[in-house]
Amino acid sequence: MPITNIEHREIARKHRLYFMICRKCGVRNSFQAKKCRKCRSKNLRPKKRDITR
Ligand SMILES: [Zn+2]
Repeated sequence: MPITNIEHREIARKHRLYFMICRKCGVRNSFQAKKCRKCRSKNLRPKKRDITR
C-alpha cells in the first residue's frame, strides 16, 4: 500500500535510515538502543546515512 500522506512518507523515510545494527548478530535495533535486543551486545553501529534525499 503506497503512503499518500506526504508527512507520513517523510517520517517513514527517516525511520528507514535511523536505526542501529548489531555488529555481532546483525539484528536491527532502535536508534536509542544501548544494547542489542537479541544478543544484548553493546557492539552497535548506526545505519549508514550518507544518502541525503
Ligand atoms: Zn546482537
